[in-house]
Amino acid sequence: MNPPCGRCKKPVYPTEKINCLDKFWHKGCFSCEVCKMALSMSNYKGFEKKPYCTMRFTKRTLKRTRAKASVW
Ligand SMILES: [Zn+2]
Ligand SMILES: [Zn+2]
Repeated sequence: MNPPCGRCKKPVYPTEKINCLDKFWHKGCFSCEVCKMALSMSNYKGFEKKPYCTMRFTKRTLKRTRAKASVW
């Protein structure tokens, strides 16, 4: 059984597997959650089990997300 990809949920085969943030990813699916920039093991920043390109970007985005959430 191949594990599902952290982004597209399709099986990840050993040849294209990235094991990161307690999940498996296709190389092409391991991209920034916000801007979709392609990431690698050496330049990603993990937060809440999702990859991001920079932590600064992440913090700003989360603030916005929280503000939105408080409306609910
Ligand atoms: Zn995928
Ligand atoms: Zn990004």
